[in-house]
Amino acid sequence: MTKFIPSINKLIDEFSRLPGIGKKSAQRLAFHIINMEQSDAYNFAEAILDVKRKIKYCEKCFNITEQQYCDICNDPKRDDHMICVVESPRDLIAIENTKEYRGYYHVLHGAISPMDGIGPNEIKIRELIIRLQSDETKEVIIATNPTIEGEATAMYISKLLKGTDINVTRLAHGIPVGGDLEYADEVTLAKALEGRRTI
Ligand SMILES: [Zn+2]
Repeated sequence: MTKFIPSINKLIDEFSRLPGIGKKSAQRLAFHIINMEQSDAYNFAEAILDVKRKIKYCEKCFNITEQQYCDICNDPKRDDHMICVVESPRDLIAIENTKEYRGYYHVLHGAISPMDGIGPNEIKIRELIIRLQSDETKEVIIATNPTIEGEATAMYISKLLKGTDINVTRLAHGIPVGGDLEYADEVTLAKALEGRRTI
């Protein structure tokens, strides 16, 4: 195991904690930073702090934003009969990139996973139900990932909305089982939206 001086070790450790970064990559990145101009390094550190200071959740849909409401919730031209429910802000962006969907969103920030101690109260389901009581929604499209957790979440929400006049649909074919929405290409995702079905 290579030994570095403490400040470099610390930086390597921090990089290693990022997703997809192994020890070797962490070392490469740390040495890249060492060779950076002082001002570039400062800007980089400042960008990390800035995002942590400014980013918060939209008070309506829980998308990330720097304001009280996100740009999508602030857009009056969108279709207020539809809410698309996703697990993460990155899934929202994936669906936005298809340019096929013009409704609003609701970001759950996770999926039900009893194994990991994540129940319905740990994600933004209650907030969704409260929201649905007071708005114009006629259709809820559940676009959680096609994983066990995503399916369990979809079933849970659809049961909660049984007996209401809201049509609950689920993304259909196109998304591979066990796959991640974020990594689906736009055509596949657009097809899945098109082929959604009532659950
Ligand atoms: Zn919003």
